[in-house]
Amino acid sequence: MKPSEVLDEVASEVAVCTKCPLYHSRKKAVPGEGPVSAEILFIGEGPGFYENEQGRPFVGAAGKFLDELLARAGLKRADVFITNVVKCRPPGNRDPEPEEVQTCTSNYLKRQIEAINPRVIITLGRYSMGLFLTDAKITRVHGRPVQVEGRLIVPMFHPAAALHQPALRDSVLEDFSKLPEILGRVKSTGKKPAEAPGKPTPDQTAEKKAEEQDPPKNEPPTQLSLF
Ligand code: URA
Ligand code: SF4
Repeated sequence: MKPSEVLDEVASEVAVCTKCPLYHSRKKAVPGEGPVSAEILFIGEGPGFYENEQGRPFVGAAGKFLDELLARAGLKRADVFITNVVKCRPPGNRDPEPEEVQTCTSNYLKRQIEAINPRVIITLGRYSMGLFLTDAKITRVHGRPVQVEGRLIVPMFHPAAALHQPALRDSVLEDFSKLPEILGRVKSTGKKPAEAPGKPTPDQTAEKKAEEQDPPKNEPPTQLSLF
């Protein structure tokens, strides 16, 4: 199956999915959107009120702020793929339960990542970060790239949290302004991840890795917790 067909298939499946209780609060599922050839994948937490109405990711207040952050990094929405950990809105915007995260990501996000095969994954908030970096604290590792299974994971604060907290806002703006340099470095390495040879050895925690990599040069792999 072609990568674009995988994405279409995921979108059709989540629209009618009943694999976890979040389908009860779903109006429209939000599979995510962007070009299948995107080199950068953003992963948020889950749809909020407006996303649930429209079936599109990051269209509310957090989305406006994300647009500002993208602009700061010299990126356009049309160039990147944006999705979420869970594809249906948790009731009252509650946090997704671990089982919901596990069910949704193993069925859908995993296939999306394989199909898109991005060089860089930018995690927005701790649920998304937790899929890739175990034991990492967002307050310590934000904005610092870590190599996981051939891709660069860049943990960022969630735009919704940063929107309302001035200190986080400054911090996330600064982190995004450093992205062009990080992305430039990744592009210069040539191949996309699945084409690159070699398997990583999980050996240290993400936080340790991030601490060792300031500035990151020859990022060693760290452990992938979920997939
Ligand atoms: N917050 C998220 O995490 N995802 C969205 O799509 C919108 C808001
Ligand atoms: Fe299915 Fe994911 Fe929606 Fe749960 S959140 S019902 S697993 S698509």
